[in-house]
Amino acid sequence: MSTQSQYKYTKPLPEMDPEDRPYWQSAKEHALKVQRCDDCGAWNFPPRPLCRKCQSAKLIWTKVSGRGHVYSSTTQHHPILPSYTKDDLPYNVSIVELEEGVRVISNVVGCPPDQVKIGMPVEIVYDDVTDQVTLPKYKPRAN
Ligand SMILES: [Zn+2]
Repeated sequence: MSTQSQYKYTKPLPEMDPEDRPYWQSAKEHALKVQRCDDCGAWNFPPRPLCRKCQSAKLIWTKVSGRGHVYSSTTQHHPILPSYTKDDLPYNVSIVELEEGVRVISNVVGCPPDQVKIGMPVEIVYDDVTDQVTLPKYKPRAN
């Protein structure tokens, strides 16, 4: 799903650095990638210079399935920043565990926030919030 914004996006955007720029670039290309160790096969997230398991520097940006499940979830009922308005509330903040085993913080969209449950199967959707930034989000999936 692409939701190219017709309005000016006013919420905070990720501050990219050289280490995580490939992650955000892959999101923009609607083909999310995560670092995978070329020596031991471990998936690494968040991005880092050395493998969290074997300390190898041979980390390869590798496309992930985009499928996973809700590991943890909460519903936000109060605006935490001025850019969040009443129209944005409530919204969901979840930790999604991808099939590859890495956990990412995101939003589950496409269902009421209070219907997001731990263990719920989800799949990625790409929210093109600006011309430069795409936020990976997740929606419920059947299985
Ligand atoms: Zn490794």
